[in-house]
Amino acid sequence: MRTFFLDRDGTLNAKPPDGRYVMDPAELVLLPGAAEAVRELNAHGRRVVLVTNQRGVARRLMTSADLAAVHARLAALLRGHGAFLDAVYVCPHEVGECGCRKPLPGLLRAAMRDFPDIDPADSVMIGDSESDVLAGKAAGTGTVLLQGPGKPPDNTAADLVTTDLRMAVGLLLTSSKGGCV
Ligand SMILES: [Mg+2]
Ligand SMILES: [Zn+2]
Repeated sequence: MRTFFLDRDGTLNAKPPDGRYVMDPAELVLLPGAAEAVRELNAHGRRVVLVTNQRGVARRLMTSADLAAVHARLAALLRGHGAFLDAVYVCPHEVGECGCRKPLPGLLRAAMRDFPDIDPADSVMIGDSESDVLAGKAAGTGTVLLQGPGKPPDNTAADLVTTDLRMAVGLLLTSSKGGCV
């Protein structure tokens, strides 16, 4: 498992309520254990690629500059834990207007163009929404759905369901070196 594609809201940082967006860097709060999980991936030589839908840009609730400031804050928070992202891919578009808004695989495919050594079969997409799972499936990666503690599992196409990013990374780094999750 060489490349880890990570969702942002609800995976790395606390998810804003439906229909709301992290528009201000001060609103970005890392989830417990998330930075440590990324650091663990960095330390094990895994590539970490953020893939995030941010429709608030298309809705003109925030600008690309606002989003860049949020991602600068995210990088700074991670850096404070000795962790980093190798790349960030954003879909700023409205539903149905592009090929990159998850559940479509466009963001993952863009990363695969930029990093030709990415092997989908040796990669995994981790997120808290079924749209993350479907994007990973469409791009040919393994898939992990994060569901939070104590919830009965939803009906999901994911290869693995667990509570949070730290759990997912712990499971994947100790599992077999093969392509499957
Ligand atoms: Mg999410
Ligand atoms: Zn898009």
